[in-house]
Amino acid sequence: MEVLKKIKHTKPVTIFYVLVIYVFASSIWWMYLLINKNHKLYDEKIANFHLRHSEDSKSTENILLLKEFTKNKNRQNQMIIGEGLVFMLLLGLGSLTIRSYINKEIELHRQQRNFLLSITHELRSPLTGIQISIETVKDRILDKDKQNRLLNNAMHDVNRLKELVDNLLMAAKIERQALAFSDHPVNISELLQSLSRRYKEINRNRRIFKLDVSPDLMVHGDLTALTSVFTNLIDNAIKYSDKESTIYIEANLNDKEVDIIIKDEGIGIPTEEQPKIFDKFYRIGSEDTRKSIGTGLGLFIVKQLVEMNKGNIVYQANYPKGSIFKLIFPKPVEAIALKEPKIKPQVVNQI
Ligand code: ADP
Repeated sequence: MEVLKKIKHTKPVTIFYVLVIYVFASSIWWMYLLINKNHKLYDEKIANFHLRHSEDSKSTENILLLKEFTKNKNRQNQMIIGEGLVFMLLLGLGSLTIRSYINKEIELHRQQRNFLLSITHELRSPLTGIQISIETVKDRILDKDKQNRLLNNAMHDVNRLKELVDNLLMAAKIERQALAFSDHPVNISELLQSLSRRYKEINRNRRIFKLDVSPDLMVHGDLTALTSVFTNLIDNAIKYSDKESTIYIEANLNDKEVDIIIKDEGIGIPTEEQPKIFDKFYRIGSEDTRKSIGTGLGLFIVKQLVEMNKGNIVYQANYPKGSIFKLIFPKPVEAIALKEPKIKPQVVNQI
C-alpha cells in the first residue's frame, strides 16, 4: 500500500524532471546547432569574399572587412549563447517554482489523508462510547453508582468531542486569520497555578505535577489563547508519558523575557521528527503515537497562538527521556521599566 502511494506521488515528479531535462537538453542542442550554422554561414561568406577579391585580398581595406566579418560572427555567437543562458535561467527558476508547488501539493495531500484518518477515529470512538453508555443506562436497571460511572464516561467522551470541535474551529479561524485577540496583562503565574490545581483535581491519569513558578509573572496577551496553549501542552505531556511519571511546569523571569517550561518524562520526540511537530495535522508515525488519540492539530494551534501573542516556542529533548516545550514571551514594558531584580522561583508546589 505504502509502495503504491509512493509510486502515485513519484510519477508526476518523475514526469516533471524528465520534461525539465528534455527542455534543457534541447535548448543546449539548439544553441549548438545555431552556433554551428553561424560558423558555416560566416565561413561561406569569407570563402566567397576571398574568391571575389583573390587579387587584392591582402589590401588593408579587405583585411579590415575580414576582421569585421569575424567580429560579426563572434557577436552573433555571443548573442545566441546569451539568449540561451537567459532562457535556461528563466526555465530553471520556473522549474524550481513548479517543483515547490508540486511539493506543497503532495504535502497537502498527505495532511488531508492524515486528517481524514484521525478525524474519523477521533469522532467514532467517543461516539461509540457515548452510545454504549446511554444504551446500557436505558436498557438495564442499574444501581446509582454504576449509572453515575456510565454517565461520567459519556460526559468524558462528550468533552473529548467538544475539544476536538473546538480545536478544528480554532485551526480554521487561525487559517482565515479570523481570531480576535485581546492584548491585556495576564498573570501567568496565577494562570499556571490554577491550571495545575485543575489537573490535580481530575488527575485520572495519575501523573505527578511539579510546579516551580515565580510569583506574579506578567505577559501581554489573550487569556483564552494562553490558556489553550498551556492546556494543549499539558494534555500532550500527559498523553505521551507513563502513569506516575512527573510533569514539570516552570516559569521564570529573565532579563527581557518570561520563560515557561512544560517538561515531561515520556516517550520524547525523535530528532528527525522535531522540525515537523508544529505542522498542521502532523502526527509522528511511531506505534506509541498511533496508539494515542489525536489529530495533529494541537501543536499547530499552540505555535500559532504563541506567535500571535508575540512569543516563541521551541522543543528540546529531556534527558534521560521525555520532552521539554519552552515558551518565551517578551516581558511587559512596564515590568522592564521597573527594573525588578531577577526573581528566583519561590513558589514550589508539588500537587
Ligand atoms: P496530537 O493530536 O497527535 O497529539 P499534536 O499536534 O498535539 O497532535 O502533536 C503532534 C505530534 O507531536 C504528536 O502526534 C506526538 O507524536 C508528538 N508530541 C507532541 N507532544 C509530545 C510530547 N509531550 N511527548 C512526545 N511526543 C509529543
